[in-house]
Amino acid sequence: MADRVAVEASRLRGKVAIVTASTQGIGFGIARRLGLEGASVVVSSRKQKNVDEAVASLKSLGIDAFGVVCHVSDASQRQNLMQKTVDKYGRIDILVSNAASNPSVDTLVEISDKALDKLWEVNVKATVQVIQAAAPHLSEGSSIVLISSIAGYNPSAGLAMYSVAKTALLGLTKALAMELAPKTRVNGVAPGFVPTHFASYLTENEAIRSGIESQTLLKRLGTVDDMGAAVAFLVSSDASYITGETIVVAGGIQSRL
Ligand code: NAP
Repeated sequence: MADRVAVEASRLRGKVAIVTASTQGIGFGIARRLGLEGASVVVSSRKQKNVDEAVASLKSLGIDAFGVVCHVSDASQRQNLMQKTVDKYGRIDILVSNAASNPSVDTLVEISDKALDKLWEVNVKATVQVIQAAAPHLSEGSSIVLISSIAGYNPSAGLAMYSVAKTALLGLTKALAMELAPKTRVNGVAPGFVPTHFASYLTENEAIRSGIESQTLLKRLGTVDDMGAAVAFLVSSDASYITGETIVVAGGIQSRL
């Protein structure tokens, strides 16, 4: 796990960062890494208890953390997240859109309208809406990262429509980068397989897990720290000439040419 000793960089000192869906898993790993690099971090998710626990955990590492409940599909909660952040810190320098849902493992010819709607609502539409709510408060030189997936490049069996929604985020990254330049850079991170609650039905099955590991060149699953490190790079000045790109962080799983 990343800690203050291992992460000596202070690239993000003085920055204000919001990470959606950040009370566990990859979102929490990203929030922790941004905080360890000096950012003030606003964590959020649907449940107050989870928000409180995440804030306490980050504060125990010496991170300036603040929490606001926000279901990304709820307009008033999105506004509240941005307003509370601006009331406390005055602006938004970094926004990481990490929330996603995978309501079905049905094939494309069998998936229900309800599951299709939810995939659109949470994974694509709410991503745009979170950025709309943040836009008036984004500072000059600010940075947005959208969390896509390796599945956005290679649709996985049982994850077909989820994969397509993640492909949409690759296009959204480019479209937003064009609209928001030069004030705000917009990039993406496409994680490989990371053993979180979300992916537990894959990574806790020994046969599936070893099948995934053998698909990677590095012969292991990803970690939340791998994802936090990639996001920290993209939002830092080290990536100041990068916008509209998605970095695949998947241990070498085939993604493109
Ligand atoms: P996770 O460990 O299950 O964590 C999900 C987090 O999201 C929790 O903090 C949860 O807290 C919050 N959340 C869920 N629905 C939400 C909503 N509608 N609004 C706001 N917060 C919500 O999941 P994860 O694996 O870290 O996944 C994070 C992102 O990485 C997703 O975009 C996923 O598609 C992507 N990803 C994951 C993998 C992987 O292998 N794990 C691979 C590629 C991409 P509450 O329950 O309190 O809301």
